[in-house]
Amino acid sequence: MSESLLKTVPANSLHYGGQWRKARGRSKILVRNPATQEVLAEVPAAEEEDVAAAATAAREGFAVWASLDAAERARLMVVLAGIMRARMDDLAALESLVTGRAIREMRAQMGRIPEWLEYFAAIAQGLEGESNRVKGGFVTLTHYEPIGVAALLTSWNHPILILVKKMSAALAAGNTCLIKPSELAPVSALILADWCREAGFPPGVVNVVTGEGATGAAICRAPDVGMVDLTGGTATGRKVAAIAAERLIPAMLELGGKAPIVIWDDVPLEEATAGALFAAFVASGQTCVSGTRFLVSDKIYEAFVASLKKRAEAIRVGDPSQTETDMGPVISQASAARCHEHIATALAEGARLVTGGGKPVLAAPFDSGNFVEPTVFADVRPEMRLFQEEVFGPVVSVTPVKSEEEAVQFANNSPFGLGAGIWTRDVGRAHRLASAVRAGVIWINDHHKNDPRSIWGGFQDSGLGKENGWDALKSRMRKRSVIVRTAPNFDDWFAGGARYG
Ligand code: NDP
Repeated sequence: MSESLLKTVPANSLHYGGQWRKARGRSKILVRNPATQEVLAEVPAAEEEDVAAAATAAREGFAVWASLDAAERARLMVVLAGIMRARMDDLAALESLVTGRAIREMRAQMGRIPEWLEYFAAIAQGLEGESNRVKGGFVTLTHYEPIGVAALLTSWNHPILILVKKMSAALAAGNTCLIKPSELAPVSALILADWCREAGFPPGVVNVVTGEGATGAAICRAPDVGMVDLTGGTATGRKVAAIAAERLIPAMLELGGKAPIVIWDDVPLEEATAGALFAAFVASGQTCVSGTRFLVSDKIYEAFVASLKKRAEAIRVGDPSQTETDMGPVISQASAARCHEHIATALAEGARLVTGGGKPVLAAPFDSGNFVEPTVFADVRPEMRLFQEEVFGPVVSVTPVKSEEEAVQFANNSPFGLGAGIWTRDVGRAHRLASAVRAGVIWINDHHKNDPRSIWGGFQDSGLGKENGWDALKSRMRKRSVIVRTAPNFDDWFAGGARYG
């Protein structure tokens, strides 16, 4: 099924200005199946000239898109949502093939993605400015207007979800998009650009160039680009922010995380373990909000560790295309090597390996895949590397805490501030912890839930800005103030007028 979608991508092509375009350079990127290393596709590594041509197309598209009524933009976005829904199964299979994520996960995620297009299409039509009568006979008005060309630079872990989140807000705001997907998962973005053409989007509204980090940097520097919206690692975020600062353009940065999960002794053990498993090992632990630092009340600590070991060992790791598979590989050989390096360091620093730590034994062709066993370390102290650094794989730590205060102190002992989880039956404790734990997205008695209405974004090393909700729409627009004198006579200051300001 997914092969049929792959075949819709012509060789050596980018998609901008409403059509497939041959890339000018010769450099190529091989896209591999992380479960087998099989080469699935070859896409161009766009060069400066390609980026310049795509940026021009996006600027020209902006002139048309921004002039459309919000209702017409919304109509086209809803048509695109319908196309995505009709091809959901193929898209899920493609995403699973390219990212290695289990097909069950991709189907569940894919089913919700059109909701982002529909939600932003709807709220943009309900966007209202404000008007006030103010002192001295004036009326003030606010106007919202689009910014221009939005550069969308995306990661590989949820290629379509992250792209559609960003694209929906940018398009509904009246901006056009110049997209650079991750080199590791670039194909679905190209396909989506062609579906936008099919949906009837004017040329130049959705433009995709593939490439590596250098292509992303060239996009940020393109003079036609008016804002940058990145999902990626913190180091990339700093580089992108530096270019944006130089150019004085807005930058939204959705970066890394190291989510703490506080588990209290009043939660049934079965539920606490099921919740921990879901937080930690969905997407093989490769999400920015993956639960990675479990802070567990010392009253249930050993029972929780034993229960997590049992459930982690029951996770079925293997061929991502099979519905009975729970967990696939990590994205690349480099990612697998990073996981094993963290495992070795945790052992050397004295953490207790509870389960995992190796590469699962699988039959060919999966013996060549980037598989890492679900790995749990207990007795991890906050000063250890595993507690502090993002692994971005299925390797988690468990730490006992003796009080709420200690849970908060440990949770906040991190340069990140993105996701966090709190598991307790005590409503007061839930709110106390939610107020004290420093994170931009906090779940109580659940994890990973994401909705177009629920704002998303982190602090500190986890980035700046918000996705989802009105915040996302408005931050992708310029808000202007218009001040109208309604008083009949001008108060002539230089002729002795009374007022200033
Ligand atoms: P990267 O930072 O490696 O890449 C993100 C995107 O930026 C890619 O398209 C990448 O291109 C591009 N890029 C790389 N270098 C530059 C540069 N100098 N200038 C401009 N663009 C550049 O992240 P990953 O793709 O590896 O994604 C994993 C990271 O994303 C993790 O840290 C994770 O926590 C974070 N993330 C954050 C989320 C959030 O909502 N806060 C959600 C999901 C992930 P290429 O890959 O082709 O080199």
